[in-house]
Amino acid sequence: MSAAVPEQAEAEHTEAEDPSDDADEPDDGSEEGDSEPVTGVSRPHPLDGVSEQEIASAVATHIATLGAMSVGTPSAGMLVNGRNAQKSELYAPVAPGTAWGTDETLGYLDAALTKVHAAIPGTPPLPLGDISAERGGPISPHVSHQAGRDLDIGYFYRGEQRWYRRGNAQNLDLPRNWAFVRALVTETDVDLIFIDHSIQALLKDYALESGEDRAWVEGLFGGSGQRAIIRHARGHATHIHVRFWNPIAQETARRSYSALVARGIVPPVQSYLSHRVKKNETLGKIAKKYGVSVESIKRANRLKKSLIREGHAYLIPVAHPRPAPPSQRLAFPARRLPPDAPRRASAEPATSSR
Ligand SMILES: [Zn+2]
Repeated sequence: MSAAVPEQAEAEHTEAEDPSDDADEPDDGSEEGDSEPVTGVSRPHPLDGVSEQEIASAVATHIATLGAMSVGTPSAGMLVNGRNAQKSELYAPVAPGTAWGTDETLGYLDAALTKVHAAIPGTPPLPLGDISAERGGPISPHVSHQAGRDLDIGYFYRGEQRWYRRGNAQNLDLPRNWAFVRALVTETDVDLIFIDHSIQALLKDYALESGEDRAWVEGLFGGSGQRAIIRHARGHATHIHVRFWNPIAQETARRSYSALVARGIVPPVQSYLSHRVKKNETLGKIAKKYGVSVESIKRANRLKKSLIREGHAYLIPVAHPRPAPPSQRLAFPARRLPPDAPRRASAEPATSSR
């Protein structure tokens, strides 16, 4: 097991710095680990049939043509060829400098909000909080938001729309908020949505009262053993945090990864293993076991001498570039659609006459 030591330190630091319940969840996602797209649906990708060599040459000479890349994971990632969210009738960025996302992330957000606007006339623009920095990586106070796939956005309120207003039964516009969450689930490749549990309860009740399929709704909230898309995380009574899968930008990043590292666009970073010293083990033996130098172990553990203690755990620096991409093609979960959508489609009588 590799332990991402700097990440943990950062999470603790953030927590200590900002204990306010209004702060964006300091460990959004990191608590459960970044979910990895290992099972599910493989989809066509623009780089299908393009060779590693062609990709390397594109990275070197005309990287923009490769499109957006979401490198690594939301809490250990980077963004390449991101796009800056622009104010529109759908939303207004609160901090444009940290409103960079992939084309897919911004496209999904547009698709979901457009659906709300179409369904409910007079829908106001939402304040859009952080997505990612232009090149991704950590931005305070978030642990995630590193790879252009996470975004913070306001709730819809009755009356005044204000960024970071705490939502409750009195001030939330439930029809619009549910329409938004529903559209995120049905129109986009959403990975997860952080919403405070008090607001989850309101949304769930509203959805059921408005006639949504009970099993589908409960499944979205983690009922009947299904993976929850809508989850509680501290700090999300004032805004929604949405994380998307990016089937294109994540796979492009995976295919381009070695070329990105080779050209220094994605710097490899240090991560560590923990090794507990057994009887008669020396630093030299441990170094050999992991294929690293004695000096690098001493540096990682701030050891002045080469003496180590039996039973004591030491950090072993490993050349484990952030983020290590899986070797096989990424696959992503199928969208979780309510049962009446396909039923309606298949129940349609074959009216076309020959
Ligand atoms: Zn967030």
